[in-house]
Amino acid sequence: MKKYCDIKLLVFMYISSTIITSLAMKNFSLKHTTFLLVASLLIVLQRKIYVYKNSYYRMLIALLGASFSVFIVRFLAPGQIKVWDVDTFIAFAVAGVNISLLIVSLINSKCVRNIVTVLLGAVFVLPLLLIWGNYFSEHTWINADAISAILQTNPSEAMDYLRDRMELKVAFVFAGIAALAAFLYKSLHQLEIKKAKKNYILIVLLIVLNIVLLVRTNDNFVTWAAHEARDYQESYAEYVRAKQERNENVLKNMSFIESGNKGIYVLVIGESEARNHMSAYGYGRETTPWLDSVKNQENVILFSNAYACYCDTGHALPYVLTAKNQYNDMEIKEAVSIVDMAKAAGFKTVWLSNQVRFSGWDNPITIISDESDQQIRINTHIGNTLDTDYYDGELVNRLDDIDYSDKMLIVIHLMGSHLSYHSRYPVEFEKFTGEGYLSEYDNSVYYTDYVVNNIVDKLSQKKDFKGLIYFSDHGEGIDKDLSHNSANFVYDMVYIPFYMYLSPRYMEENKEAVRMLKSRANDYFTNDLIFNTVMGVMGIKAESVYEPENDLTSQDYDGNLGRFLTMYGTKKISDDPGLEKGTD
Ligand SMILES: [Zn+2]
Repeated sequence: MKKYCDIKLLVFMYISSTIITSLAMKNFSLKHTTFLLVASLLIVLQRKIYVYKNSYYRMLIALLGASFSVFIVRFLAPGQIKVWDVDTFIAFAVAGVNISLLIVSLINSKCVRNIVTVLLGAVFVLPLLLIWGNYFSEHTWINADAISAILQTNPSEAMDYLRDRMELKVAFVFAGIAALAAFLYKSLHQLEIKKAKKNYILIVLLIVLNIVLLVRTNDNFVTWAAHEARDYQESYAEYVRAKQERNENVLKNMSFIESGNKGIYVLVIGESEARNHMSAYGYGRETTPWLDSVKNQENVILFSNAYACYCDTGHALPYVLTAKNQYNDMEIKEAVSIVDMAKAAGFKTVWLSNQVRFSGWDNPITIISDESDQQIRINTHIGNTLDTDYYDGELVNRLDDIDYSDKMLIVIHLMGSHLSYHSRYPVEFEKFTGEGYLSEYDNSVYYTDYVVNNIVDKLSQKKDFKGLIYFSDHGEGIDKDLSHNSANFVYDMVYIPFYMYLSPRYMEENKEAVRMLKSRANDYFTNDLIFNTVMGVMGIKAESVYEPENDLTSQDYDGNLGRFLTMYGTKKISDDPGLEKGTD
């Protein structure tokens, strides 16, 4: 009689979950309903080990209910979801909850049980918070870039969103979690296991089966973003690990065809600056008066069709600053950096930055900059913040701290127009008002123009000054009320400014290169070609590293629109809807 009851319950749970998911998704996948069958079986079996079955059910329903709240986000956010995604995740959640309840109920000591519960609760709640938090701030399903930003490079981006956009909704989420915890507290302590030998055999079986189901369903639409974020981290961790090898093998055996022309070269990396918000590129507001005034000078070249290779700093700069780009099949771990190359060619290298030095030994940008002969960081914060001690203008003062030589590369990394825009410029630069974020963003662009103007004024006084190259790591989706989250990709996020300010001496000594550069001012370009172009400008050519088709100073530069890509090769520049309107 009892057995018959179990089978009835099993069949009921399997059939009803299959019908509900199939109807809701208007689709059916027999293969994936196997997961639902196993999950149902595990629930039927697991309830048998407890003295009070209802405590188990209460815990199960509450925890599964919270887990399934991710379906709400998934349905509200753009993008498709399939019936097998739903089935797989349901089984994954059941296995996860079952294992957690087994662990807790096997602990006898009340104190230890409480500690373990808190730990398991954190593991359970954190992903839900990330998913809901990301939805409230970005209106998208969470992706690997968001997780990487939060976990690795920049937890403060998440904090910024919390501060700027979430407000009351956060309170509701926390209230929900607190209510759930209070509701579960009593049931948790009633999870008492029947003390019988037969029961322990069943427990062992349940542990094994739940783990098997958890592993089999581990690749589901919720964990997928975390898996991707891990893959991304690993590829750059590899870059860091291989550093020694690069220094020893690649650089020592580097054979230079040309080892560079003496002089002071400056590479300025802008931050989140979109060219469609710069008057020099035709924007209605006068955001770049200095660039407007010099852009038609003989010694200034403004490139009108430059794009970023990705829409965030963490992805874009490793390609910008190393020999790796979207068009070669080099592995990132084998790619030498711009700093490595300049040093190997006998240049002194300086890194002057207002960006946070990310605590990570695992951050590739820090690894690249740490190779510099001299580092000046005016931002004393490390790791989890976007706060700065100074506006970018302080970088101009710190130019005096550089030990100058007649053969050097100075890299200057601005804070530019990064969120929160209003904290990027002094009050005197509040030129535009009203329109909220938009004006704040434009003011930050206006201030960056002033900062670069001052850098140029100061460095062009040096007799060895040869030229300054300015570009931005990526753009910003500001017109569409977006920042630069890849989940909401629009081409505005990869519209970047790119220009060169050359000295009369450089123009005189490199007539052919200057002629090529000028003839290419309207060619297409992505900033992962900065590496080869800077090598070209400095006159460094090394065997097996230098790619003339990616160097704007070379006769062999390939400017065909058809080849240009962004977002790590997943999107074509030729698909940019802004092309017809003519962004140049
Ligand atoms: Zn950036």
